[in-house]
Amino acid sequence: MKTFIEPFKIKAVEPIQMTTRAQREQKIREAGLNPFLLRAEDVIIDLLTDSGTSAMSSEQWAAMMRGDESYAGARSWFRFEAAVQEIFGFKHVIPTHQGRAAERILFGTVLKPKQTVINNTHFDTTRGNIEFLGGRAVDLVVEEGKDPAHEAPFKGNMDTDKLRSAIKEIGPAQIPLVMITVTNNSGGGQPVSMENIRQVSQIAHENGIPFYIDACRFAENAYFIKKREPGYADRPVKEIVKEMFSYADGCTMSAKKDALANIGGFLCCNDDELAKKEQELLIITEGYSTYGGLAGRDMDAIAVGLHEVLEEDYLEYRTRSTAYVANALTARGIPVVKPAGGHAVYLDARGIVPHIPPLQYPGWSLSVELYLEAGVRGVEIGTVMFGYDPETDSEKPAAMDLVRLAIPRRVYTQSHMDYVVEAVENVHKRRTSVKGLKIVSAPRFLRHFTARFDWV
Ligand SMILES: *Cc1c(COP(=O)(O)O)cnc(C)c1O
Repeated sequence: MKTFIEPFKIKAVEPIQMTTRAQREQKIREAGLNPFLLRAEDVIIDLLTDSGTSAMSSEQWAAMMRGDESYAGARSWFRFEAAVQEIFGFKHVIPTHQGRAAERILFGTVLKPKQTVINNTHFDTTRGNIEFLGGRAVDLVVEEGKDPAHEAPFKGNMDTDKLRSAIKEIGPAQIPLVMITVTNNSGGGQPVSMENIRQVSQIAHENGIPFYIDACRFAENAYFIKKREPGYADRPVKEIVKEMFSYADGCTMSAKKDALANIGGFLCCNDDELAKKEQELLIITEGYSTYGGLAGRDMDAIAVGLHEVLEEDYLEYRTRSTAYVANALTARGIPVVKPAGGHAVYLDARGIVPHIPPLQYPGWSLSVELYLEAGVRGVEIGTVMFGYDPETDSEKPAAMDLVRLAIPRRVYTQSHMDYVVEAVENVHKRRTSVKGLKIVSAPRFLRHFTARFDWV
């Protein structure tokens, strides 16, 4: 069969409120031309994030009814712990309310001020937690990972030569951890190869440095390894995951991504002493060691989701539906980051509206047009998000101006995606009339969340 279908059917539906262009003009005006300030009910297709937006399965909802809300030693905790240990293979599991809480507990335990953590690309909460504790976050993704037009199978890899020289320069004693983020979220959801994980682990360990994985999209990454890396085509994804994590001393995880849950996270390690210290911090700031910040029912939903996300029919659908959007846009001559990542499609705004200079925010402007055109909400990853330096109160163009269309897991069908493609195509057709923006008001930090805009 040429037609590839969603490997699920729909049992509960969530109505979408359709809107007219005139209504959307009013809503986005009221929101100061900032899609973050829209109400979700005024959005038709919401591609703001893939985090916490997954549709849960009937098995997950059934598991939620079995949730045991006992404070200590709940049944839900033991099911959660068993699922994490079985899939990732670590000895200690520390439950947290989301990924950034796992990061805070990890860095709060192992990182001293002025020390450096190395990653392919730190996600913003990871960087934030390191810098908040007075540490330094260094990104060493391979060069091809920074070029949106370059087609390569593993653009999330870490540059191992740069890793070796960074360790030599900084000194292993000043590096509490080397990390790798799978898939590389801030670098377009590009995967990391098994060979690269193995090499990075080896280099870290030769220098006596623990190696951790930011595991948020571990299943998507494992599926890319199966599809793209020689020697893995016939291996079950579950085994590939086991191998990936066998090279690591621990991991951090946001269950809002590849655990198909709406909230949750965890931290793992094999070191007994470290786990004890982490549990202390957990109990003071998150909750008792058998629930972290989670309800029993959430732990049960995660335990089921972690197994479901490894089903290969699901992963085939997941990676194909993302590639479907990217390929459809490419076929219409619309520039996107290549190849498609696991969880999102990135429009290259500077390529689409080259007449808008970066300091008039081409990515932001394009995201507003997509909403006006069809009620589609994406997010600018560009000069509004990264261009302002609060220390010098000055602005400069970000490395790229992109619009990220993040695809929630199991939520939208192919016809929803066709609608999105048509929306982008319509905006692309009238691209020369799309205008740049200016900022009317903005806070000094994380300005994209609350800034207000007007057209120039
Ligand atoms: C989402 C994410 C996090 C943080 O997880 P939260 O659950 O949002 O706190 C960390 N790293 C990566 C790569 C992520 O995508």
